Amino acid sequence: MIDLNLVWIDIECPQCKYINEIQFIDAKSEKTVFCHNCKTIIQLKDKNASVHNGVEAINSALINLEKKFKKK
Ligand SMILES: [Zn+2]
Repeated sequence: MIDLNLVWIDIECPQCKYINEIQFIDAKSEKTVFCHNCKTIIQLKDKNASVHNGVEAINSALINLEKKFKKK
Protein backbone atom coordinates (compact mmCIF):
# COMPACT_ATOMS: atom_id res chain seq x y z
CA MET A 1 0.00 0.00 0.00
CA ILE A 2 1.39 3.35 -1.02
CA ASP A 3 1.32 6.10 1.59
CA LEU A 4 -0.50 8.95 -0.11
CA ASN A 5 1.02 11.45 2.29
CA LEU A 6 4.41 10.90 0.71
CA VAL A 7 3.16 11.20 -2.82
CA TRP A 8 4.37 14.24 -4.76
CA ILE A 9 1.68 16.35 -6.34
CA ASP A 10 1.79 19.36 -8.62
CA ILE A 11 0.32 22.67 -7.62
CA GLU A 12 0.02 25.61 -9.91
CA CYS A 13 1.29 28.95 -8.68
CA PRO A 14 -1.67 31.38 -8.69
CA GLN A 15 0.70 34.16 -9.69
CA CYS A 16 2.82 32.85 -12.55
CA LYS A 17 1.24 29.42 -13.27
CA TYR A 18 4.53 27.70 -12.57
CA ILE A 19 4.04 24.10 -11.51
CA ASN A 20 5.52 23.43 -8.09
CA GLU A 21 5.89 19.97 -6.63
CA ILE A 22 4.79 19.41 -3.07
CA GLN A 23 4.10 16.36 -0.98
CA PHE A 24 0.51 15.55 -0.19
CA ILE A 25 1.23 15.76 3.54
CA ASP A 26 2.21 19.40 3.05
CA ALA A 27 -1.16 20.17 1.50
CA LYS A 28 -2.99 18.31 4.22
CA SER A 29 -1.19 20.19 6.95
CA GLU A 30 -1.87 23.45 5.07
CA LYS A 31 1.72 24.55 4.94
CA THR A 32 2.91 27.64 3.15
CA VAL A 33 5.35 27.09 0.32
CA PHE A 34 7.27 29.41 -1.95
CA CYS A 35 6.81 29.28 -5.67
CA HIS A 36 10.15 28.18 -7.10
CA ASN A 37 9.75 30.54 -9.99
CA CYS A 38 8.40 33.87 -8.70
CA LYS A 39 8.83 33.34 -4.91
CA THR A 40 5.17 34.02 -4.21
CA ILE A 41 3.99 32.51 -0.95
CA ILE A 42 1.35 29.89 -1.65
CA GLN A 43 -0.93 28.99 1.23
CA LEU A 44 -1.81 25.36 0.81
CA LYS A 45 -5.33 24.31 1.61
CA ASP A 46 -6.58 20.81 2.01
CA LYS A 47 -9.72 21.95 0.24
CA ASN A 48 -7.74 23.33 -2.67
CA ALA A 49 -9.27 21.92 -5.83
CA SER A 50 -5.91 21.44 -7.50
CA VAL A 51 -4.78 19.25 -4.61
CA HIS A 52 -7.83 17.07 -4.93
CA ASN A 53 -7.44 16.85 -8.65
CA GLY A 54 -3.87 15.79 -8.09
CA VAL A 55 -4.93 13.04 -5.73
CA GLU A 56 -7.61 11.89 -8.11
CA ALA A 57 -5.01 11.68 -10.85
CA ILE A 58 -2.82 9.63 -8.55
CA ASN A 59 -5.67 7.34 -7.64
CA SER A 60 -6.58 6.65 -11.24
CA ALA A 61 -2.91 6.09 -12.01
CA LEU A 62 -2.79 3.54 -9.20
CA ILE A 63 -5.94 1.84 -10.44
CA ASN A 64 -4.44 1.59 -13.91
CA LEU A 65 -1.30 0.13 -12.40
CA GLU A 66 -3.33 -2.41 -10.47
CA LYS A 67 -5.16 -3.46 -13.60
CA LYS A 68 -1.86 -4.00 -15.33
CA PHE A 69 -0.66 -6.26 -12.57
CA LYS A 70 -3.87 -8.24 -12.48
CA LYS A 71 -3.65 -8.99 -16.18
CA LYS A 72 -0.47 -10.98 -15.66
ZN1 LIG B 1 4.98 31.68 -9.17
